[in-house]
Order: sequence, then structure tokens, then C-alpha cells
Amino acid sequence: MDAEVIVVGGGPTGLMLACELRLAGVDVLVVERRGARVSAEARAGGMHARTMEVLDQRGMLEPFLAAGRPMQGAHFSALPLDLSGFATRYPYLLMLLQTKIELLLEERALELGVRLRRPVEVVGLRQDEAGVDVELDGGGWLRGEYVVGCDGGRSRVRKLAGVGFPGTGATLTALLGDVELAEPPAEPIFQERHDHGTIGVLSFEPGWFRVITTEYDRVAGRDEPVTLETLREACVKIAGTDFGMRRPRWLSRFGDAARQAERYRVGRVLLAGDAAHVHFPAGGQGLNLGVQDAVNLGWKLAATVRGWAPEGLLDSYHAERHPVGARVLHNTRAQSALSRPDAQTTALREVVGGLVGVEAVNDLLGGMVTALDVRYPMADGHRGAGDHPLIGVRMPDVDLLPLDGGAPERAFALLRAGRGVLLDLGALDGVHDGWADRVDLVRARCPARTWAIPGVGRVPAPGAVLIRPDGHIAWAARAQGDGDVRAALNAWFGVPAGVLTG
Ligand SMILES: Cc1cc2nc3c(=O)[nH]c(=O)nc-3n(C[C@H](O)[C@H](O)[C@H](O)COP(=O)(O)OP(=O)(O)OC[C@H]3O[C@@H](n4cnc5c(N)ncnc54)[C@H](O)[C@@H]3O)c2cc1C
Repeated sequence: MDAEVIVVGGGPTGLMLACELRLAGVDVLVVERRGARVSAEARAGGMHARTMEVLDQRGMLEPFLAAGRPMQGAHFSALPLDLSGFATRYPYLLMLLQTKIELLLEERALELGVRLRRPVEVVGLRQDEAGVDVELDGGGWLRGEYVVGCDGGRSRVRKLAGVGFPGTGATLTALLGDVELAEPPAEPIFQERHDHGTIGVLSFEPGWFRVITTEYDRVAGRDEPVTLETLREACVKIAGTDFGMRRPRWLSRFGDAARQAERYRVGRVLLAGDAAHVHFPAGGQGLNLGVQDAVNLGWKLAATVRGWAPEGLLDSYHAERHPVGARVLHNTRAQSALSRPDAQTTALREVVGGLVGVEAVNDLLGGMVTALDVRYPMADGHRGAGDHPLIGVRMPDVDLLPLDGGAPERAFALLRAGRGVLLDLGALDGVHDGWADRVDLVRARCPARTWAIPGVGRVPAPGAVLIRPDGHIAWAARAQGDGDVRAALNAWFGVPAGVLTG
């Protein structure tokens, strides 16, 4: 074996996954086609709250916060959303270019001991019962126990694994230019809808702007070149001005095709990030979705490689993340439809614009776009879940007072090592040390009487919770004697080590 896990693609998803696997002690090799990061090609321009939270859980958020700029820029089809009331430490959008995000993730991966080979392109793949071989463009093969395709929307791994990618084709043409503007708009986030399409101008860094045009009356051919002239023409056609644009750093084109892999797992091959789903970048969700796929998959794949994964754990990756991806495809389709430049859509926008002003609607859309409201369907009994309202939601970052007299701590700090956490807030009885090699038992007091959970509301603070390494609550008890924590531990963390060895 050349590695326990081979990750194909060193974009945000592949790098985050490699960090998660390495944290769990897995030997990971990332193979990346690009020789070096092309610093001008920064697609995503920001991170949402849940992505900041998952980085915070691992103690790796600080450099991202230091490099980025908080902004109240969340929106649904350019209708502004107010995140200030959300129960998170990060109720904003962090403006940070994708190239910088990748650089910081790569630094962290290398620190953790991830091996990165570049430039290497994967061109072939075959799997058997014991592993997967990937063929490299320069000749030769690499073998891993598992291979994860994090190789973007045109994923070679997905195609080689024979996974279908159904969905809807493009209905519009969007052009993007990172340019200097002699006469920029006054607003830092400028968005307008006109008869021929929409235009957005964002000020990212001093000296240059990102201009995005969307034309609803044509679908560009795949090989049609993008030049400063085509962007200028689109701006003039839509908004009547080109803002004095010049000196492009990067020009690109994209559409609103929305497609999703039928299966996220085929035997020993898995898919994550854009390799598993592509959609219109409305609301800036793609990179976030990929990083969160990686955090869901990482510990499950590590448990499988280490040999303690309970039955079905790896398949729960598809079961949990496919619906989350489908929801993003759905909401981005709705967002692109809501921007169409016809009279009927204008009327619809006015109605929806009014609704967004209603707190409950703002919270629903905000929870969706930030992914703070993601709740995995765990309450199916067979994983010992029970019926507590916290089951499946993300653990909120509540303050805790450890019972051993240690310093006050935030809940996220308990997840630094990427292990499970059984948090006893006074209701746990019995001894549960059979899982000590995978789960930390923490006894603490929580001063908050209720926990605010996006998408659920206020829930009385529980007496105990079992938190998975990805930060989602797998089991919760109201009071002593409530529920069966051993069943939940068995269901998510496998057979206790004592039983295994004894
Ligand atoms: C214009 C635009 C704006 C966007 N804005 C946002 C935003 O604001 N917020 C947001 O969250 N998302 C945004 N996105 C989406 C975001 O860029 C993607 O969702 C994100 O890059 C996905 O990350 P990934 O790692 O899954 O795939 P990618 O970033 O595509 O990375 C895949 C990697 O795999 C490598 N690779 C490909 N094939 C092979 C192979 N055969 N062998 C080896 N390596 C290979 C590639 O070189 C690449 O490095 C935007 C996208 C666009 C187009």
C-alpha cells in the first residue's frame, strides 16, 4: 500500500479531508494535478458560519479570521439576510479568497503530516476487495485502502467509478472578472437587476473589484473564450456602464448547471465536494458544502481504516450528506430563478423580498445558506438515538465549567482532537470507559439553562450529550436514567475496546 487513504485533488475539500484523516492517525496521500496554486484564480470569496465553526472545533480558525474580513453579506438571491440574531460566535460572512483558504488548509495539512504529491494527475482507477489502485498520468500506479475523489466538478474519479451525475443543465451565462475599476460604484456590495440580466460588483481587496454579470438570454458554448471585451460588453448591455474596467487579474465564466452524484460511495471509492455536487454559486455555498462533507466523512473513514467502525457507519456519509447537497442544489436553483429579468419574476421578487423581512423567514433562509440548521436524520432508533430534540443537530458552542476544577471551557474546545465526546452535565450514571480510546468523557456544569439551536429553537439544556467527532449530537438525555447511552456508543463508536481485547 502506498497510503491508507489516497485523496485525489488538493482543493479545499481534499485538504480539509486530509487534515481530518491525519488527525485521526490515518496515513494520507493527496495527489494534486496543479503544479502550484494559481493565486489569481480565486473562485470562492468567503466562508459561512458553519465552516468557521468546524474550523474552530479543530482549533484552526485563528489564521483564517486574521486573514479575512467579517461582513454582513449573506443573502438569498441578492435579497439581504440578517444573521445578527443567529446563535453562533460567527454571525457573519468572512470575506476571504479561496486561494488563501487553500493555502492555510495546506499549511495545516503539512503540519499534521499529510503527504502531498504535485503535479500528479489521476487518469485511471480500479478497485478490488482489499484496495484501490489509481493510475497516474506520467505512468505508474498508487494503491490505497480507500480513495476519495475530491477532484472537482469534472471529477475523473467519479467518471472512472461509473457514478451517474444527473441534474439540470445551464440556463444562463455568468461572466466573472477580477479587474481594476476607474469609476467603481459607491457601495462595497453593489447588486442590480436590469432588463437583460444582473450585475454585481464587490470590493475584495484595495485596488481591485470582482465584477459578475448574469445574462439570462443566452447559454455560452463550453469553449467560448472570455475576454475583457466580452465582460465589458455584458456590463454595458446590462447596466449601461463598464465602470472604467481595465487590467484583469482573472476572467472566467460559469453557469447554473446543478448536478449531483447518484452515490457518494462505490465500494472503496468515495466522492466529496464539487466531485459530488455542482450548482450555481448563489449565496456562496459550494466551498462550505465541500469542507463540511469532509468533516462528516473524515472520522467515519478513519474509523473504518482503524477497524472500529460499526456496521453502516461509512454508508451514513451518503445518507447524511446527499440530502444536504440536494438542498443546496434546490436553493441555488430557486435563487437563480428569482433573479430572472422578467415582469413576473420582478413581482415574485417583491413578494419574496417582503417575506425575507419576516424574522421567521430570514431565520429559515439564513439557517439554510449558512448550514447552521443542518440536522442529520439520526432518530431512527437503531442507533440508540431516542427522541431528544437535540439529536442530529450541531453541538452549540456553550460555555462549560469543568467539574474537575479546571478553567472554564467552550464546548468546541472539547472537539480539538477530533474524537467523540460524552459530555456529562449531571445526568450520566454508570461507567462508560470501554470506549476511552475513541471517546473522551467530560464532566462539567453548563451555566446556560437553554440552548438556542438554529432551525429548532430554544431547548432546555440537557443532562448529558454524546457528540460525534464532526460536532453533531448523536444522543442526549434530559435527566438521569433517560435513554440508553451504551446503545448510542455502540451504534456510533463500535464495540468497546474492552470487549475487543478481552
Ligand atoms: C465564480 C465562482 C464563485 C464561487 N464563489 C463561492 C463562494 O463565495 N463561496 C463558496 O463556498 N463557494 C463558491 N464557489 C464554489 C467553490 O469554488 C467550489 O465549491 C470549491 O472550489 C469546491 O472545492 P473542491 O475542493 O471540492 O473542488 P476544487 O476546488 O475544484 O478542487 C479540485 C482539485 O482537484 C484537482 N484535480 C482535478 N482533477 C484531478 C485529477 N484527475 N488528478 C489530480 N488532481 C485533480 C484540481 O486541480 C483541484 O485542485 C464559487 C465558484 C465559482 C465558479
